[in-house]
Amino acid sequence: MQPTADRFHPSSKTCSGCGGLRNDLDLSTRTYSCGTCGLVLDRDLNAAINLARWQANESSTVTPLGPTRVQFRSTA
Ligand SMILES: [Zn+2]
Repeated sequence: MQPTADRFHPSSKTCSGCGGLRNDLDLSTRTYSCGTCGLVLDRDLNAAINLARWQANESSTVTPLGPTRVQFRSTA
């Protein structure tokens, strides 16, 4: 099951260069330009970089609860 990161992670509004947020970025804007670090790149590419980075962070910190819980219940 894929995590739906966009629900709680503003990947398309976050600068993949400096991590700054642009809340004024609307859906019709196809190019992301950062006012903080000056980065300009395709909006989808920027989002993809953020998402890949976010997923890498998540997979290293998230504890897999499913199998652990099943194992615990079967032995209790
Ligand atoms: Zn930036």
